[in-house]
Amino acid sequence: YQVPNWSGGWFRVSDRGQVEVTPSPGLHAPLRAIVDEIVERGESLPVILRFPQVVAGRVKHLNEAFGKAIAEYGYSGHYQGVFPIKVNQRRVVVESIAAAGYEYAHGLEAGSKAELALCLAQKMHPDALLCCNGFKDDGFIKLALWGRTLGKNVVITLEKYSELDRVLKQAKALGVKPAMGVRFKLHARGSGQWEESGGDQAKFGLNAYELLRVVERLREENMLDSLVMLHTHIGSQITDIRRIKVAVREATQTYAGLIAAGAQLKYLNVGGGLGVDYDGSRTTFYASMNYTVGEYAADVVYTVQEVCRAREVPEPVIVSESGRALTAHHAVLIMPVIDVTGPTRDLEELAAPNEDSHQIVKDLEEILVNISARNYREMYNDAVGDKQTLHNLFDLGYVTLNDRARGEALFNAILRKIAKLIQGEKYVPDELEDLQKVLADKYICNFSLFQSLPDNWAIQALFPIVPLDRLNERPTRQGTLVDITCDSDGKIEKFIDLRDVKATLPLHEPNGRPYYLGVFLMGAYQDVLGSAHNLFGKVSEAHVTVRPGGKFHIDLFVRGQKARRMIESMGYEEPMLRDSIEDQADEALERGTLTPEQENELLEDYGEELLGYTYLEYEEG
Ligand code: PLP
Repeated sequence: YQVPNWSGGWFRVSDRGQVEVTPSPGLHAPLRAIVDEIVERGESLPVILRFPQVVAGRVKHLNEAFGKAIAEYGYSGHYQGVFPIKVNQRRVVVESIAAAGYEYAHGLEAGSKAELALCLAQKMHPDALLCCNGFKDDGFIKLALWGRTLGKNVVITLEKYSELDRVLKQAKALGVKPAMGVRFKLHARGSGQWEESGGDQAKFGLNAYELLRVVERLREENMLDSLVMLHTHIGSQITDIRRIKVAVREATQTYAGLIAAGAQLKYLNVGGGLGVDYDGSRTTFYASMNYTVGEYAADVVYTVQEVCRAREVPEPVIVSESGRALTAHHAVLIMPVIDVTGPTRDLEELAAPNEDSHQIVKDLEEILVNISARNYREMYNDAVGDKQTLHNLFDLGYVTLNDRARGEALFNAILRKIAKLIQGEKYVPDELEDLQKVLADKYICNFSLFQSLPDNWAIQALFPIVPLDRLNERPTRQGTLVDITCDSDGKIEKFIDLRDVKATLPLHEPNGRPYYLGVFLMGAYQDVLGSAHNLFGKVSEAHVTVRPGGKFHIDLFVRGQKARRMIESMGYEEPMLRDSIEDQADEALERGTLTPEQENELLEDYGEELLGYTYLEYEEG
């Protein structure tokens, strides 16, 4: 499962074969014990475990990395991060970042009016930045300006040239001096899945001509000191450090150019993009990154300094808008496996020889017996042909349902035997490449991919997935995962691997005890992008603090959305639903298809379901 490669030290596998969270040296707690406590309290799964200590640890890690680079290079400015709350607006996340970031004056970034309203209410260091990105209307701008009167270091980022007029007009009307940033469209592009976020065709930002017009316009208004920040962003999850260096160089040259044009910028904002190594491969693969947080900080500081020295301009305060890197690690989705199905289960019984079988079934029996390392390719082709014939004969009524079942079981047994023969072989014939996947078991998990891991569905994002325990026991099955939505896209068939992507995940044979899988590094973007497919709602969550001695404390348990909430979000009202059921039950009573006792029970059950969790509720164990 590669835990040491992707966990960044925030998780480990204990000697007892359990995954533990390790928020700081000496602190550790097994996830299984946390889940067991949640179940003992009578709560239902799935659940997201959140570790505020991990969020705080990530904030510290990033700030200290920049602090170290700044000290090492003798950089004369400092670093001040902002957290773009769109990455995860959950209260516990934002408050943990604000609290842990206070000593570093780590700020926040809002991309909409609602986000700004949320950010303004946070307790922040007076120097901490509150950057307002995204397209803005007058209301957004006014709210940002009011923020300045509250003593907050609010900076309004101009995303397009026309926003300048709006800001100036509102600022005059309110009598508040604005602080502005300007987003520049770098020609440098990122790498990985969000490559398109940068470059000339980017959605946001001003071009070089427009930048200079902003400076001119502010000079005319005698407000040059209101332009405080240059902002750039080349996309999220930048996999290649060289792309970051190239972009930061271009950004710093632009900063120097603006200074030369008379601007008095204080901050250089290099945007987001600091990656997360989801597969632990440390490569430029889209689910990875070929650098560490320390290397990122060092390269940013070094590049900014190098350009500033060459251009003889002051070294700015370096701002980054890292979101993914601060939040991905803190959350783990725990999903119980509720069933296992698969083409190779219960084969032995079905595949036993039988005198009365149809000849085509006997042919398959023979292939199964005779298959070997020398002839498996030929045998495979024969078996495929026989299976086709079996189905044709069935359609014509010459093969019984029993024979069809045995024939299919034999075919799967043949595939399983071939899979064993080619395991570890360097050369696998094209037609057999998908064998592992075809033969894999389906582990049915109590969750919705669309609610909890939307990026896996939408953009094939990979997340490390690990059983919470039994890790000192060699897994004997290969599986893919399916969720409980009625959507055949609700499945996970790609898993992390150091060299490639794997089509299956090694899993343990169910042993009668609850078997839980943890999906790790899912704390960035997933919570907020999730959708209510099939009306599966927000997942319950536990906020957990790890204490010395392997202990932990569940500080808060927030129940997931109730069915009623999900139904109401579609425009229905609870009383209307209840009335309708009651009327129908009364009619059934009159018709005599319900007794009065049954009617009461029905209404009680209906009411209970409205108030219940939207996921499957089993007695765990
Ligand atoms: N800043 C801006 C302007 C963004 O669009 C984004 C996300 O793409 C971020 C910051 C956060 O980026 P990341 O999560 O890669 O740190």
